[in-house]
Amino acid sequence: MKVTLIPVTPFQQNCSIVVCEATRRAAIVDPGGDIDQIIEAVATLNVTVEKVLLTHGHLDHCGGAKAIADHFGVGIHGPHKEDAFLIDQLPEQTRRFGFGEAHAFTPERWLQEGDSVQFGEEVMEVYHCPGHTPGHVVFFSRANRLALVGDVLFAGSIGRTDFPRGNHADLVRSVQEKLWPLGDDVTFVPGHGPTSTIGHERRTNPYVGDRKTA
Ligand SMILES: [Zn+2]
Ligand SMILES: [Zn+2]
Repeated sequence: MKVTLIPVTPFQQNCSIVVCEATRRAAIVDPGGDIDQIIEAVATLNVTVEKVLLTHGHLDHCGGAKAIADHFGVGIHGPHKEDAFLIDQLPEQTRRFGFGEAHAFTPERWLQEGDSVQFGEEVMEVYHCPGHTPGHVVFFSRANRLALVGDVLFAGSIGRTDFPRGNHADLVRSVQEKLWPLGDDVTFVPGHGPTSTIGHERRTNPYVGDRKTA
């Protein structure tokens, strides 16, 4: 599996194109906007897009989801249905933040804990990680030791919990009970900023690390 990161929207959100190298089939994770850039990257990679995956319902992660899914003629999978209230608000949110037009949508499939998603021969496990939003999910490729964690965990930080239905205690529990057990060797792609590893964050993250100081 190969991952290409494309920072999109004024929030520099990490849209990821994950590719099954055996089949050249791909999934696009969190196409928040700048869809022309994403379409161009798909053409450069020369892959067939099989589905759109969403970690959560925030505008910078799913603002371009419907346009991208329609462009490639594929379905949207995720997030967990607890984030439906956010997706319903997308058109209003885009006007407020001055984004290009975003459309509300209903995913082909809401995801929940224990589900898996597939593209080509690659499989990613789904973990429900509420806290930043109530319906946030994380995608984990056990074979490739790689997790796409959205706005749950960042290099040196954690997701904000001051948005509607955010919950700090839930977020900390999600990180410690769902992400830490994936393994210290696992590399993760956060929704914003550089990648890191689970082990590095356990040792050094001031908010959720094993010797947290914040
Ligand atoms: Zn978010
Ligand atoms: Zn974000």
